[in-house]
Amino acid sequence: MRHVHQRAPAPRLQHAGDRTRTDLVTVAPLPNFAIIRDLVPDLRPLFDKHAALMPHIIRDDVQEMYEPTGEYFQTRHELEQFLQFSYCIKCGCCGAACPTVATDPEYSGPMALAQSHRYNADSRDGGFSARRQVLATEKGRGSATTRANVPRLAPRASTRPARSS
Ligand code: SF4
Repeated sequence: MRHVHQRAPAPRLQHAGDRTRTDLVTVAPLPNFAIIRDLVPDLRPLFDKHAALMPHIIRDDVQEMYEPTGEYFQTRHELEQFLQFSYCIKCGCCGAACPTVATDPEYSGPMALAQSHRYNADSRDGGFSARRQVLATEKGRGSATTRANVPRLAPRASTRPARSS
């Protein structure tokens, strides 16, 4: 028997001002960002805050960081501590939905904070103190969202990963 697939009717575009219709797709610029033009948001503050929190591995042994002599192994458990946070695609949607981002332009925002945690939770990383200093200078650290995350951002037991020779 042949199955006939019914195609859903194509959604019609909706002007951003008409929020009473539920059968239409709204096309509008990403909220909480300045608009460069038409549907193009200015994402530079998003990425500036992201970069300020040093979203990369920072080694305690600086010489090894710049002139590596081997690989740094991790256990499955150590990988699981940060893996889900490494899936962020930097789309900015969390910032667009965040009421604190909407009202406080200095707040680091959920994307930058999540990426800060991604590296803080990495057993190869020693950058917690440096990132904490950045957060201490921004309103992000004092926000309700960040306070709720402080226990998760607290220093972890330092365990240097095994290294191949
Ligand atoms: S954390 Fe934010 S920026 Fe990253 S994928 Fe999720 S919504 Fe997008």
